[in-house]
Amino acid sequence: MRDFSGDHRWLSINTATIRKSGGKDLPLTEIIEACVQRGIRAISPWRDQVAAAGLAEVSRLVRTHGLELSGYCRGGMFNAKCLVLVVGGLPGALQGKPEHKDIALSRTQVRDGIAELLDYARQVRMPLAIEPLHPMYAADRACINTMEHALDVCDELDPQRTGAIGVAVDVYHVWWDPKLRQQIERAGKDRLLAFHACDWLTPTTDLLNDRGMMGDGVIDIPRIRGWVEAQGFAGYSEVEIFSTGNWWLRPHDEVLDTVIARHMTAV
Ligand code: ZN
Repeated sequence: MRDFSGDHRWLSINTATIRKSGGKDLPLTEIIEACVQRGIRAISPWRDQVAAAGLAEVSRLVRTHGLELSGYCRGGMFNAKCLVLVVGGLPGALQGKPEHKDIALSRTQVRDGIAELLDYARQVRMPLAIEPLHPMYAADRACINTMEHALDVCDELDPQRTGAIGVAVDVYHVWWDPKLRQQIERAGKDRLLAFHACDWLTPTTDLLNDRGMMGDGVIDIPRIRGWVEAQGFAGYSEVEIFSTGNWWLRPHDEVLDTVIARHMTAV
């Protein structure tokens, strides 16, 4: 397992982490500058932020600064390491009006959708990373909720293990899973495409936007990272914190400095 205690060269910032600074929207261009100033080598931007800042300008900044992209959220761009898929739940549920109650049907549709996308992803050589989400999001955000389920889909669609599809391991979503270690071993290096870090707070006050800073919650992040790296994963550790009530209210400089410090001690 890599030693993160001396520097932050393997830290990537999921740009949602500082999408707000002091409660106000922070443009992606400023997020990039703040990361570059601190020697952060990789980011994972969100499509809405890229759209707001302009794809051409973002591409230019990423290239000028030699930034790497540990992922791209969510679902379609440049030289990202993988495209992270949050697969969806029951149609309409996110808007509070679920069209049906058949989660098995949703899962079949998700598998079919990924199969279709995979053909295109192979052509453009963009690996697809299925991110299993915590089961509390099964209705409205993603009906793939465990590593086991995500890997079943990978095995079905890519039995030859070509590297075209794999999983994004986000500790927030999978830390509780009794089969986590076993499934990380099943995934192996070729299916482990991304590693996302934050922490699970007790109590959690908001199911979506109360993620904790690493070290402030109950997830044994180094243990999980150890399992992932034992398989040969050597990519970035991407910090992804959505926090309307705490970190998004603070100045982004403070947030980034805290992320860097915690990345050395709690990841
Ligand atoms: Zn994630």
